[in-house]
Amino acid sequence: SAPRLTLCPLSAHHGYQTMKPMTEALVEHWVDNARYPGTSARRGAVTNPATGKVTASVCFADEADARHVIAAAARAARSWGRSSLTTRARIMFRFRELLNARKEELAAIITAEHGKALDDALGEVTRGLEVVEFACGMPHLLKGAFSESVSTGINVHSKRQPLGVVGIISPFNFPAMVPMWFYPIAIGAGNTVVVKPSEKDPSALLWTAELWKEAGLPDGVFNVLQGDKAAVDALLDSPDVAAVSFVGSTPIAQYVYERATANGKRVQALGGAKNHMLVMPDADLDVVADAAVNAGFGSAGERCMAISVLVTVGPVADDVIARITDRMAKLRVGDGTLGCDMGPLVTAAHRDRVASFVDAGVQAGAKLVVDGRDIVVDDRPDGFWLGPTLFDNVTPDMTVYTEEIFGPVLSVVRVGTYRDAVDLVNANPYGNGVALFTRDGGVARDFEQDVQVGMIGINVPIPVPMAYYSFGGWKASLFGDSHAHGVEGVHFFTRGKVVTSRWADPATSPSSGLALAFPTHD
Ligand code: NAD
Repeated sequence: SAPRLTLCPLSAHHGYQTMKPMTEALVEHWVDNARYPGTSARRGAVTNPATGKVTASVCFADEADARHVIAAAARAARSWGRSSLTTRARIMFRFRELLNARKEELAAIITAEHGKALDDALGEVTRGLEVVEFACGMPHLLKGAFSESVSTGINVHSKRQPLGVVGIISPFNFPAMVPMWFYPIAIGAGNTVVVKPSEKDPSALLWTAELWKEAGLPDGVFNVLQGDKAAVDALLDSPDVAAVSFVGSTPIAQYVYERATANGKRVQALGGAKNHMLVMPDADLDVVADAAVNAGFGSAGERCMAISVLVTVGPVADDVIARITDRMAKLRVGDGTLGCDMGPLVTAAHRDRVASFVDAGVQAGAKLVVDGRDIVVDDRPDGFWLGPTLFDNVTPDMTVYTEEIFGPVLSVVRVGTYRDAVDLVNANPYGNGVALFTRDGGVARDFEQDVQVGMIGINVPIPVPMAYYSFGGWKASLFGDSHAHGVEGVHFFTRGKVVTSRWADPATSPSSGLALAFPTHD
C-alpha cells in the first residue's frame, strides 16, 4: 500500500503568520486610480483553498463595465505615451522600492486565495520583481539607432513608440508574477494597461493597483478589470485595445489568439504545458530525486514549468523511484500559511479533476507508487487536498501522460535510449519547458540542439529565464511569436518607425531636380 504522507503540524510557527491577508468583502475593478464596483450585478466567489471557506466576492464585469475601464485607459494613453522617459523610469523605481518593502503582504494575499505555501508565494513575487527591475532600464531599452549621411545630406534614425492600450489576461496559478511579466514593460514603454486577473485569486492585482497609485502613476495607466469570459471577450473585441498578452490553458490561448488577431490586434498567448525531465544513466541520482520532487510537487504541481513526466533512460528507474519515494514521505502537506511544503489545490473542482486523472491512470494500468487521493489534513477538513502522487510504468497513450493534469502527480516513463527520450519529448504537442540530467556535456549539447521546446534546463529542473531573457514555449504552449519580457517584451509593446530626413543647405546641396526613377543612394 502507498506510504502515509506526513501532515503539516498546525502548531508550526512561520514568520509570515502575522501578515494580514486581504479580507475585503468585495473585490472590485480599479480604474482611474480608484476602486470601481461597476454596474454589473454578476459576482464570483473567492475561496481560501486551505479552509474551503468563501472569503470575498469578486465583481464580474459586463460589457458596459469593460467599456468604462478601457475608455479610461485610452484617455490616459495619450498623455502617458508622451511622458518623458525620466518620469516613467522614476515612477518605476518608486514602484520597485514599494513592492520590495511590502512583498510579504502580497505573498500573504496570494497564499490566502491560491493556497501555495508562503515561501513559494514570496518566490513568485521576487521573480516578478525582477521584471520591474528590468523595466527600470527602459530609457536604455527604448534607444533607437542613428545613421548620419546614408546619402549625401540624408540621415536616418529609428524609434520605438507605444501601442496605446494593452490588455493583459492572466491565469490563477501566478496571480502576481504572470501579470508582472507584462505590465512593467508595457507601462515603461508608454502604454496603458487593463489587467484581467483570474477570477479565482483576484485580490493580488487590486493590491498592486494601490501600490502603483502610491508610486505616483497617473490615473488610467494601470487598470484592473475583474471577471470571467465576458471581461475577456470585451478586451478581445474592443477597438481601443491595441494588443493582448494572455497566459492560461491551451484551448483558451488559442481562442484568445484567433479572436484578437481577427480583430487586428497584436497577440502573444501563452498556453499549457507537459514538461519532461530526462534522467541519463550517468546522472547524480540524489540531485535528480531532489529536483524531481521540488519541480513536481512545488506549488502542488500548479506551475506551467512543473515537471510532470520523468523519463528514465536505461537502467536507472528503480533507483530513482526509490529515492523519490523516500523524499515524498517527508513532504508536509497543509495550510500554506503554516510552513508546509505543499498547500491545497486551488478549487474543489480542480482537486476532483486531478483525482479523476489519478483514477484513470490506475485503470489504464500504470503502477501507483504513491497515492495522494486519500490524504487528510488535520483541522482543515474542508480544504481542497490532494497529496503528492507518483506513477511508474506510464505509457504515452495513457491520459495521465497525454493531458496537462496541473496537479501534484508525477509520472515515470521508462525508455531505452537517449534517442527514445528525445523522440518522446518532440512528439508531445506542448513545448514549454524540459530538463536533462546528465554529467555528459556532449549529450547535453546534442539535447539543446535536438529538442523542440522553448525553455531548456541542463541539470536545472525549472528553467524559468531571467527577466532580461524571454519566457515562452513552442508548439501548443505559445500562440504568436513573441515570448514574454526581455527584449522580446519591449519589442511586443512598441511599434518601430524609421525616419529618413534631409536637412541640407540648398546653397551647398541643391535639389537634384525632377527625377522619377526609384531613389538610390550616393
Ligand atoms: P484558464 O485558461 O482557465 O484561464 C486563464 C484566463 O482566461 C483567466 O483569466 C480566465 O478568466 C480566462 N478564461 C477562462 N475561460 C475562458 C473562456 N472560455 N473565454 C475567455 N476567457 C476565459 O487557465 P487557468 O486554469 O487559470 O491557469 C492554468 C493554465 O495556465 C495551465 O494550462 C497552465 O499551463 C497555464 N499557464 C501557462 C503559462 C505559460 O507561461 N505558458 C504560465 C502559467 C500558466
